[in-house]
Amino acid sequence: MLGSMMQQPLLISTLLTHAERHHGEQEIVSRRVEGDVHRYTYRDLAARARKMANALAMLGIEHGDRVGTLAWNGYRHMELYYAVSGSGAVLHTINPRLHPDQVVWICDHAEDQVLCFDLTFLPLVEAIATRVKTIKHFVAMTDRAHMPASSKVPNLLCFEELIEAHRAEFDWPIFDENTASSLCYTSGTTGNPKGALYSHRSTVLHSYAIALPDAMNCSARDSILPVVPMFHVNAWGLPYAACMVGARLVFPGPWLDGKSLYELFEHERVTVSAGVPTVWQGLLAHVEANGLAFGTMRRTVIGGSACPPAMTRAFQERYDVQVLHAWGMTEMSPLGTVCTLKHKHLAMGAEERLALQAKQGRAVYGVDMKIVDAEGRELPRDGKASGELLVRGPWIIASYFNGEGGDPLVDGWFPTGDVATIDADGYMQITDRAKDLIKSGGEWIGSIDLENIAIAHPAVAMAACIAAKHPKWDERPLLVVMKKPGAELSKEELLKFFEGKIARWWTPDDVVFVDSIPLGATGKMQKNKLREMFKDYRLPTA
Ligand code: ADP
Repeated sequence: MLGSMMQQPLLISTLLTHAERHHGEQEIVSRRVEGDVHRYTYRDLAARARKMANALAMLGIEHGDRVGTLAWNGYRHMELYYAVSGSGAVLHTINPRLHPDQVVWICDHAEDQVLCFDLTFLPLVEAIATRVKTIKHFVAMTDRAHMPASSKVPNLLCFEELIEAHRAEFDWPIFDENTASSLCYTSGTTGNPKGALYSHRSTVLHSYAIALPDAMNCSARDSILPVVPMFHVNAWGLPYAACMVGARLVFPGPWLDGKSLYELFEHERVTVSAGVPTVWQGLLAHVEANGLAFGTMRRTVIGGSACPPAMTRAFQERYDVQVLHAWGMTEMSPLGTVCTLKHKHLAMGAEERLALQAKQGRAVYGVDMKIVDAEGRELPRDGKASGELLVRGPWIIASYFNGEGGDPLVDGWFPTGDVATIDADGYMQITDRAKDLIKSGGEWIGSIDLENIAIAHPAVAMAACIAAKHPKWDERPLLVVMKKPGAELSKEELLKFFEGKIARWWTPDDVVFVDSIPLGATGKMQKNKLREMFKDYRLPTA
């Protein structure tokens, strides 16, 4: 017997319609590329998104066509999120930190028809404009007054002129909720990037999940500043969840340094934020150096790479900002787990709590996960056994865009490439990416644990642990460290700092100090580059 409830497709346009109707006065604040701060409301957003939908139709964009964006977090990007997907086309967010050759490759592979870009990225667009095969129009996301005077870009249109030229009357079409809504390519640290193609259904379900109190905890009482970029995995879904719950939104534009972020947090009374550890490092350094405090910030989601306990401690104990350690991936829309406490943990001491928060957390409803051994056999959830992490759920990819790379699933599960433990309470902890593990004498050493210890040293700004070749042990850990500006630290001091914190044989064999550690397009340490740099490194123990 079937239930007798309405069949209403879960469409992204319904998020915007809801926000307009129920939170029409709620503010969206954006620091613009033009240099000023722009303010308007969800009502304005909805009207301008409808105008843009009319403009896209005029440009010949049809159901399923891809519209590319190269843009920061801001209101015009948000308008495209809704105008493009809402009208049945596919929003293709492109990471502007990629090499121009990669951007050309991605635009061609996605067969983008239109490319909208922030003025910051004009040089990049100029470099690719005559090379891309399918793009018919380029749209500069600015007004007439700021349009570039001369440019090497053919068919260049002005975003504000497109909006002004079109009516705000537009009926969002109703279609199958499984229709593609947005496309994001993985960073492709090895080989060509692959596209994760999200659907309206997956996006709306993911929004419900991330807004939950034990996930990112978003509500109409919050002022949310997503530092995570809208150009990579849809800013972890926050632009959608914000409409769902009617949260105030604050967009930082291109200004992501500690000082700019801090000023925006304070001035706009931000309560919640989200970003990768490297961003928070810059913010904490600024706050520490200037003896500042957070007036309204109460929670921050930290993920993308492991959040070191030293960072959690600084936020929570010094600044009263709760850290929500989260894990996910492009292929998972991205949210998989968040580390929030259970009722039985409420009486926990500070140290025990910090240890728990080093874990990446519990699965949000909708994400099912398990760990398996090399033969694919499920391992116990005892917090000790570690194996490859497999996931499944309605916002996890079943295949890459255009079937690239064949069927990625194993018996219906998506292999994440991460190695993890899961404890009896369901808390998952990543020990490493499979390709970053260090194999010493046949035993695995997890690099994240070693990095977390190093980063807890007050003189260390950033630390990456990689495998260096060893004649006896095969591989041994080599710690690559960037010191804080002006800090004094010797190799011996740092190695002594590991004593008692870890099994002796896990202690790195050597430390090298570097001026900088290479970061990838999503702000993560590029260990593959470091491995390349140190491939002939001779350990003192070798
Ligand atoms: P890319 O690195 O290609 O940009 P993603 O943004 O999808 O890809 O990154 C996903 C990967 O990032 C995960 O598989 C995992 O290895 C790592 N990651 C994400 N969050 C965390 C976390 N909290 N702790 C450790 N690793 C994480």
